[in-house]
Amino acid sequence: MSPKSGNPEFTVIGSGIIGISSALALQKEGFRVTVVDREKPGQSCSFGNAGAISPSSALPNSLPGMMFKVPGWLFREDGPLFIQWQYFPKLIPWLIRFLNSANWDKVDETTSSLLALHASCFRLYQDLVKEIGAEDLIVESPVIHLYKKEEDFKGALSIWKILKDKGIEFEELDEPLVREKEPNLSSDYQFGVLFRNSGFSSNPFRLVEKMSERFLSDGGEFIHESVQNIKPGEQENITLKLENREIQSERVLVAAGAWSHQLASQLGVKIPLETERGYHVTLNSKEGGPQNIVMEAAHKFMATPMEMGVRFAGTAEFAGLKTPANQTRAEILLKLGKKMYPQLEDGESSDWMGHRPSLPDSRPVIDFCPNNKKIIFAFGHGHRGLIGAPMTAQLVAELASGRQPSIDISAFNSTRF
Ligand SMILES: Cc1cc2nc3c(=O)[nH]c(=O)nc-3n(C[C@H](O)[C@H](O)[C@H](O)COP(=O)(O)OP(=O)(O)OC[C@H]3O[C@@H](n4cnc5c(N)ncnc54)[C@H](O)[C@@H]3O)c2cc1C
Repeated sequence: MSPKSGNPEFTVIGSGIIGISSALALQKEGFRVTVVDREKPGQSCSFGNAGAISPSSALPNSLPGMMFKVPGWLFREDGPLFIQWQYFPKLIPWLIRFLNSANWDKVDETTSSLLALHASCFRLYQDLVKEIGAEDLIVESPVIHLYKKEEDFKGALSIWKILKDKGIEFEELDEPLVREKEPNLSSDYQFGVLFRNSGFSSNPFRLVEKMSERFLSDGGEFIHESVQNIKPGEQENITLKLENREIQSERVLVAAGAWSHQLASQLGVKIPLETERGYHVTLNSKEGGPQNIVMEAAHKFMATPMEMGVRFAGTAEFAGLKTPANQTRAEILLKLGKKMYPQLEDGESSDWMGHRPSLPDSRPVIDFCPNNKKIIFAFGHGHRGLIGAPMTAQLVAELASGRQPSIDISAFNSTRF
């Protein structure tokens, strides 16, 4: 695609799913786009997620009553939540905001805004992979949440009612139906909730890779360096200080995932971004594993039948951006996954840790930088960046071109904190 003459150049900081989706959308608008990343495209959080593309995944993480569950999670070796105690003092301000979000008005507002952001994600991915010749990377599948205990299932239904009231349909599965959908599942699981109109990426990393190949072949430029400083100039341009040189750009998109707040703060904008570190284990076999993408509700991890084998992915660990990965977390996921699918063929496994970019109200920021309209922010998608990426990219392109955003983005504003 050739850039429309006269359109300014855009520099996108970050080549995860948010940055690269946005870069493609900006390119389509006719901007000359450069992507800068210290890693190769898709090597950070977007590398190893569970691949879920489920529009209905819109309930915030902070829910009323959750406080009472947290101690139980924290003190279980195989619980879904970990806090590194040395990190706890740094986490307190974020935690306070997180807990303040646990009221029904906020839950309602967040759920509605995320449903709008996610509504067309599956269709948009289907269109995209057709365009880039990567149809195998998006698979249609229901998402099934699985429960062992009736009380947990009933408790979940009362929460899912929020979605039902907003028009999201789901099916309740009893034991025979659970078995029909997931024949290899352990008989410990008796109940399920099934969401249609969704699917998964069979390889989220390869998806970003394919998208960046298209970006480059359409004339995009990729600079493999770290942005150390971002500074609006006296004149027209914004100066980006890289490791070895400075570059000027007329417009900038900050899509730097869990590191975005560092760049925002250089622009004088405080954003309470935290990282919820997550883990995966990918077994190189699929025999005896899940048929659909499923969520183990008690331990909050997903099992996905990917192209390279079965992936178990989950865990929220608060330990900051610098602490090395704790391999025990991945080992626990593998143990739990094998219990869930006892017939799963043994194979080699690989593990991984990624930094989710999380805001305390579970919504991303998709907005102009408050003090500079030449800079756009798109980050903080937390547990749902793959789901949120296609519409985020569309919104970025609309903001950049001065068009009315196609959905209401007031809930994603950068000044709400
Ligand atoms: C275990 C796990 C499971 C998940 N499962 C799902 C799922 O099923 N579905 C879903 O929708 N989401 C899921 N997620 C969340 C999803 O992966 C993230 O929301 C998404 O990847 C975030 O994308 P991003 O582009 O914002 O960030 P990233 O992919 O982290 O990309 C940010 C990029 O910015 C670069 N960068 C940062 N600072 C600088 C700088 N100063 N200079 C240059 N480059 C910089 C980084 O190197 C990085 O490449 C999961 C996450 C985890 C950890």
